[in-house]
Amino acid sequence: MLEIFSKYTPNDLWCIKEDGFDKEIQDIRETQFSLGNGLLGTRGVLEEMPQGATPGTYAAGVFDRFTSQVSELVNLPNPFNFKITANGQKLGVVAMDILEHKRILNMQDGLVVRRTVYSDSKKRRYDYQSMRFMSMHDKNFLIMQIVLTPLDQDVKLEVQTGIDMGVYNAGVLTEGRKKHFILRKFETEKDANCRVIDTLEKTNRIIYRNGFYYKIGNKKTYAQDNFVHLKLKKKQSITFTVVCQISVMGQGESEFKKNKKRSQVEFQKVYRGHFESFFKKHIQRWRDLWKVADIVIEGTSDIQKNLRFNIYHMLICAHEDQGASSVGARTLSGEGYRGHIFWDAEIFLLPFYAYILPEVAKNMLVYRYRRMDQAKAIAHEKGYQGVMFPWESAGTGEEETPSWAKNLDGEIIAIKTNDLEHHITADIAYAIVQYYQITDDNDFMRDCGYEMIFEISRFWASRVKKNRKGIYEIRNVVGPDEFHEHVNNNVFTNVLAMWCLRTAYKYYYDLKKNHRTLLNKLVKTMSLTEKEVKHWKYISSRINIKIRKDKVIEEFDGYFQKRKINLIAFDENNIPSLPDGVKVRDYNKTQLVKQADVLMLLYLLSDIFNQKTKESNFWYYYNRTLHRSSLSVSIHALMALEVGAISQAYQFFNVALRADISNLHGNSAGGAHAASLGGVWQDVIHGFAGVRGFNGILRVNPKIPKTWRKIKFSLCWKKNILSFEVKNNEARIRSYPISSKMNFGKTSKCESKNKKKVKIRVFGKNHLLSPGKEHIFRRKGKLVEAGYY
Ligand code: BGC
Ligand code: BGC
Repeated sequence: MLEIFSKYTPNDLWCIKEDGFDKEIQDIRETQFSLGNGLLGTRGVLEEMPQGATPGTYAAGVFDRFTSQVSELVNLPNPFNFKITANGQKLGVVAMDILEHKRILNMQDGLVVRRTVYSDSKKRRYDYQSMRFMSMHDKNFLIMQIVLTPLDQDVKLEVQTGIDMGVYNAGVLTEGRKKHFILRKFETEKDANCRVIDTLEKTNRIIYRNGFYYKIGNKKTYAQDNFVHLKLKKKQSITFTVVCQISVMGQGESEFKKNKKRSQVEFQKVYRGHFESFFKKHIQRWRDLWKVADIVIEGTSDIQKNLRFNIYHMLICAHEDQGASSVGARTLSGEGYRGHIFWDAEIFLLPFYAYILPEVAKNMLVYRYRRMDQAKAIAHEKGYQGVMFPWESAGTGEEETPSWAKNLDGEIIAIKTNDLEHHITADIAYAIVQYYQITDDNDFMRDCGYEMIFEISRFWASRVKKNRKGIYEIRNVVGPDEFHEHVNNNVFTNVLAMWCLRTAYKYYYDLKKNHRTLLNKLVKTMSLTEKEVKHWKYISSRINIKIRKDKVIEEFDGYFQKRKINLIAFDENNIPSLPDGVKVRDYNKTQLVKQADVLMLLYLLSDIFNQKTKESNFWYYYNRTLHRSSLSVSIHALMALEVGAISQAYQFFNVALRADISNLHGNSAGGAHAASLGGVWQDVIHGFAGVRGFNGILRVNPKIPKTWRKIKFSLCWKKNILSFEVKNNEARIRSYPISSKMNFGKTSKCESKNKKKVKIRVFGKNHLLSPGKEHIFRRKGKLVEAGYY
């Protein structure tokens, strides 16, 4: 019998496993077992499409608004569709008895492999194995192999495959399911099919090609059609190989014609070519990615595996398309939030990409840059200046937040984030500065970064209002804590706005001193005046922030006067249960907080707040936060670590870590929670490993749990790759210069152009790293809080 299942099953630490089929969690498994390469993502549906399967195939940046309240990430035709009947009985997890069913997400190689042993109504057994991948190297290609062996008798097979056009977007309560594409053309090509698909608003045209061949022994046959009759002898194995190509393009006729021809040639090359060598390139690319993205935690296998799962899901949606797309709140693995892009991208995901795949981080910022005109229009429409980015963004950069929804009781709920959640415009500036400090990418700053920071400051300068006491206020917003709407002076928003204005001021004068020509150009194109810039500084020193004597910062005006609700019941993860006797719609009258808000601020601008402030606020808000967003716990873990609340840190981290692997929010079926993925990474690197850049200097101060012997990882830092091995009392660091094109993942081919020493601050002391040399640093004295769990 031919065996592919064990062939493609790696070491346990690289596997996410499904053992047995559970219909109840089929849609969650589909999210978890998603494949992707940044250009495309596809959910892990079983290829026989059991009842209740929710296939989802998405292409980065392909949205459509037709007949929807707002744009939706288009669910494209499903390429993983393969049905077999044996002697008239369908092979499938629902249709037949299952003697064994195992599925593995092989994270190391970006593969899903499966073995199911079926027993039909007459107790005849079939061994079914499959493997599939979405090429990381040739990003338009998806390949699936299926090996079938009848174990007990000769058999007549009927096989049907091809692109499943019957998919749809799940839709929201008020809209139901809908299709966002139509089939324009269907053609047969040499042993293959070609479909041309248009999104309904005609923004994108997509070409699908597919074909399959099968092998019995050494005999390879190309199928003429999408279905075939075959006969197999007892214990004889057959291998089917399905090749699918998806090419995404804009609408221009000439682009289409050129692409169609070219993609046809490419398709035939792969289809007729050598499978193993095509597959090898995919594997190589994944191994290269892991070389830079992996974090090895010695001493714990569960955490290791789950951490890789979080990283895996960030790798499969990492994309470089010159800003045509960014990463949505649910990646490319589901339709939650209709695929929209929130601050989750810039604040939660971007650090991972900036340190690991800087080009991807840049892409996310260029995505915003290319939508500056729409952001200007939004600001203008609301009576502000500069740029105001939409709370939810999709293809065009217009505001995509629905302004209302209906709940299950049929009640209309107004959605206020649309009009009020303004901090997104500061979050983007924060991300730009992060990116710049990590990468030293002056070209990006020249082409996009400075202009964005200045336009953003313009917005904040027009958004603030001076009160009678001469203090600037930001009234009527929603902060990260969405339980409280229409609040004044949400401190998160205020301080980030202040920070934007100051940063812009500083950049202006840096440019004036060091890059006069660039500044002159910007001044001219933006009609920027020095007076305006000075005014930014003036405003920033007069923005409202209320801090109590005990250092607790008021989340917004009047928050302290709201009703305190004692949190008394907790779930098994120590997350507070919803308090009895308070209706969700009355949360705004209480001090209940949805997610990290003041604490989010203390984390982002950690170096400007002192220890006492962090401690007071951590415990104050710890007792008031319900964590009703996946963005909350990872940030609480980080702040808990900062204030020495080690066991709370570990607990929060574990909840963040298992968000999607254990479906902790109950909605993983709608796709992986992007912000949680990025938050988990920040927990490990910024938190436990204690490696984080501040003002252009990387600081190292680990606080790792006792059960973790050490953490090993690498980061890209200012055109160097730094590899780390950290324990609580020792850090081993080596730096390697990389070539100017920061193509991480190809470290071995780097030229050593950059011979500069890297400045770093380890255990509270500054040092210089010489290229290539391993430096060993030891902590003097003891880490007081180390290892209480
Ligand atoms: C989220 C908001 C979002 C709204 C509409 C809510 O559940 O909390 O951030 O804007 O849905 O998509
Ligand atoms: C959160 C937002 C987040 C959005 C998308 C909401 O529930 O409150 O902060 O941006 O979900 O993940």
